[in-house]
Amino acid sequence: MAWFAGWVGGVALEAVKIWEIRLRLESPLILTRRRTETGFLNPLRYIPSTTLRGALVTALYREGILDAGQLGRERRSPEVVASPAYPISHGYKTFPAHPFIGVCKQCGENVGVPRLMDLERYLVDGDGFGWRGCSHRAWKFLHPGEFLPIVNGEFRVDDGRGRKEVGDDSGTGDGKVPVEISSVSVGISKSRASGVRGLLYHYEALSPGLEYWATVAVPESFNFPRNGFVLYVGRGVSRGFGRVKMSVVGERRVGKISPCRVLYAFSPTINLSYNGEVFTFPRSVDLSWAGARLGLKSNSVVKVGRVFGRMMWISLGWDLGAGAPRPWVVGRAAGSLIVLEEACGDDALGALSYLGTVENLNGNPLPGFNMMMPLQELMTHAS
Ligand SMILES: [Zn+2]
Repeated sequence: MAWFAGWVGGVALEAVKIWEIRLRLESPLILTRRRTETGFLNPLRYIPSTTLRGALVTALYREGILDAGQLGRERRSPEVVASPAYPISHGYKTFPAHPFIGVCKQCGENVGVPRLMDLERYLVDGDGFGWRGCSHRAWKFLHPGEFLPIVNGEFRVDDGRGRKEVGDDSGTGDGKVPVEISSVSVGISKSRASGVRGLLYHYEALSPGLEYWATVAVPESFNFPRNGFVLYVGRGVSRGFGRVKMSVVGERRVGKISPCRVLYAFSPTINLSYNGEVFTFPRSVDLSWAGARLGLKSNSVVKVGRVFGRMMWISLGWDLGAGAPRPWVVGRAAGSLIVLEEACGDDALGALSYLGTVENLNGNPLPGFNMMMPLQELMTHAS
């Protein structure tokens, strides 16, 4: 078996390849948050990992790349791991803003710590509190709702060109950037996420033409499609919504990791592993599972000291087996910063960036959470 990777806990693991992908919306995409007071459902501006993984696995099965046995195995012990898909803006990949970056409400100046290498110092030496020592008093925080490009090792706060408010129909200026959000009315069953005659709901949808990027970890034995592969994402796919074209832009490899104390949460953090109790982040992370899947032997367990980041409700996605939505739980938003108790230089940290952990909800494994990466990996990602 050429793609055998290693053993963890008595289970043989298949080695994975990491692909970086692009997603282009070909029809409006409906991804809802929780219902708002006005009765409308406002959209998420990114595609959650559980949603992307579900769409990808379904499409791989539809195209015969996965057989029924492999599909069943994906539900019981997932091999395919998708990251969340974040927007591409003006040609740049964007990332969820971290908590130490903002805009002054009075003078409009960018404030905080945009440089990744300064972040490590602020959070480790400065204990996370030195950052307010500037003259700007009124901050507009960008975490966790804004997505920013990283250029020359800095989170770049844009000048507003890429930011478009809901309901603003004043055109896009250069005509190259599609309007981000459009309104659609569609009959969709709330419980079954499928078309229903006679029922009409109003949604706001992400517009065709928008592009996203993500990483996916896929077993080496899969004949993973490269170009023009079609996924159906979100709600209303039976009505023609959520048609997304996927293409592979390259393979990602894990390199050497220098010792680091601060990790960036690329996907939301959550911890469901303690007998039904839910924590917003894992207190410790065993790197052996993620490492083994990329052929790295590791028995490191990193301990989390502090986390800086917003708590938020996180959807655990759709349970295909039960035909019902999984519950919402409180976790930490993507873009949160995790400070380890001790520096870690294990290369398996690089694997954690792409594979995260597999959380367990009542016996159902949930991949795609706790994808945490050293700040140096974040710079590699951005290039
Ligand atoms: Zn100011």
